[in-house]
Amino acid sequence: MKNEKAVVVFSGGQDSTTCLFWALKQFKEVIAVTFNYNQRHSLEIDVAKSITEELGIKHHILDMSLLNQLAPNALTREDIEIEHKDGELPSTFVPGRNLLFLSFATILANQIGAKHIVTGVCETDFSGYPDCRDAFVKSCNVTLNLALDKPFVIHTPLMWINKAETWKLADDLGVLDFIRKKTLTCYNGIIAEGCGECPACRLRKNGLDEFLLEKGVVEK
Ligand SMILES: [Zn+2]
Repeated sequence: MKNEKAVVVFSGGQDSTTCLFWALKQFKEVIAVTFNYNQRHSLEIDVAKSITEELGIKHHILDMSLLNQLAPNALTREDIEIEHKDGELPSTFVPGRNLLFLSFATILANQIGAKHIVTGVCETDFSGYPDCRDAFVKSCNVTLNLALDKPFVIHTPLMWINKAETWKLADDLGVLDFIRKKTLTCYNGIIAEGCGECPACRLRKNGLDEFLLEKGVVEK
């Protein structure tokens, strides 16, 4: 794959930034695409922008505000609480988001002559999002190849690993500190370690603690 181009679906968070570095190792050229759908914190777009600038990666920001128009949810509206009731999808679920993101990323790939699409979706820390499942991504890949009549390949390097293993992947790629200091995962829009309280921060921190413990690192 060394001679080929890839489009990475990129949000500036831990997972997609790890995927970005993974892609830089696998492909000759990497292009990042960020979707703007009026996320709670427009800071997400700024973070994505500054990371791609720092790495010298071409970055496309696509307007997907129609997603918020169709399905207002806790990621796009301040007045909707972030919550996860038993037996229900979390209020952060945006129906159809990955279907749209993968479709638009593939249309962009087609446009710029890239064969590969990389996304950080993951089934392991599965919070019930149906479009993060492997079966969905594979089915979407088949559909897009039929729709565009080309052999695109959707890569999901994080599909079967947990948060601790995602931190290990960052470490293996030599970018643990970069991911820790420069990415934004927090639902409250606080970069790096985040607010420490929201579900995204808890998941990120638990994974990091587990990874550091396994690695035998004692934090000051
Ligand atoms: Zn947080």
